[in-house]
Amino acid sequence: MKSSTPPALERSFGSRLRYDEPLGPHTSFRIGGPAELFIAARTRDDIVDAIAGAVADGLPWLVLGRGSNVLIDEQGIRGLVIRNDASGFTIDREAGLVRCDSGARLPSVGAQTAKIGLTGLEWAVGIPGSAGGGVVMNAGAHGGCIADVLVSAEVWTNGARVIAAAREFEHAYRSSRLQRDRGMVVLGADFQLGSASPEETLARVQSFRRHRQDTQPVDPGAGSIFRNPPGHSAGALIDQAGLKGTRRGGALISPKHGNFIVNVGAATSADVRALVSLAREIVAARFGIELQPEIELIGPTGRIDASQLTPASP
Ligand SMILES: Cc1cc2nc3c(=O)[nH]c(=O)nc-3n(C[C@H](O)[C@H](O)[C@H](O)COP(=O)(O)OP(=O)(O)OC[C@H]3O[C@@H](n4cnc5c(N)ncnc54)[C@H](O)[C@@H]3O)c2cc1C
Repeated sequence: MKSSTPPALERSFGSRLRYDEPLGPHTSFRIGGPAELFIAARTRDDIVDAIAGAVADGLPWLVLGRGSNVLIDEQGIRGLVIRNDASGFTIDREAGLVRCDSGARLPSVGAQTAKIGLTGLEWAVGIPGSAGGGVVMNAGAHGGCIADVLVSAEVWTNGARVIAAAREFEHAYRSSRLQRDRGMVVLGADFQLGSASPEETLARVQSFRRHRQDTQPVDPGAGSIFRNPPGHSAGALIDQAGLKGTRRGGALISPKHGNFIVNVGAATSADVRALVSLAREIVAARFGIELQPEIELIGPTGRIDASQLTPASP
């Protein structure tokens, strides 16, 4: 899918603009075809300039954080993919205030704040995403989530940079307004943390890490595939349906955790999607519960709704 030269993007980024960049290495699943055009954004300004360039060149665009909650199709993505490498953050220990660029890695922010006795982001050490991706997903674990600590975020919306208060994101369980308004991009996020003893915060970090090691697979994947339906655990439903260990091509429903599909050897997006469809069908038939993906399925022209997936073959 070779693109003709996009003048505005070429003007702004020159040789930093890449063509046909394979996206698999930019995702935790290690799956995905090429981006027609690709920019690794190093700063908030880069993100804004890249979006402005794509708009001027009449191209669709998509911001990717750490790629830890997406399944990208083998056919790749048309238009511009902006990989968010704007990853700086500062910590004001006295005020408990953490200011992150949106590409800041959640495990680094979680570990560094816990080390100095700031509490509220210990759970983030096990989540291999970015601060921006976390704001989009309302990422969370072990009873904590982004919405508990977010004060405000700098966003790009309607062609302008604005500071939005946390409540404007309408966070709920693994959801936010940003999943409905894709024109809004997170450039930075400010978190308010509490004060505790470093022994306490580091002990929590250790116990969360141990819990993950004991309960989750290490093969490439994207964490939980499905949201937990109200009152249920998606992993337990998949387990009770006897689906753990089911394999399609190089993709496997983890024998260790039913809500994890992992890439155990050159899996394709079609392999993973087949298991997503299968789990949805069997769980619906057995328990009358419709599982909703937590991961985002991304095809050549954008995000794919789970209802568009083809039925699983036996
Ligand atoms: C091993 C493993 C364990 C995990 N455990 C957990 C867990 O316990 N809890 C949990 O909540 N999640 C978990 N996840 C999922 C994932 O890490 C989180 O959802 C994370 O918040 C995604 O961030 P990201 O930067 O990787 O987003 P990406 O996957 O890069 O992007 C996800 C979506 O957000 C959009 N997006 C990304 N950045 C921005 C931005 N700056 N502005 C606007 N839109 C943006 C993308 O376009 C895409 O639509 C896990 C994943 C893995 C691989």
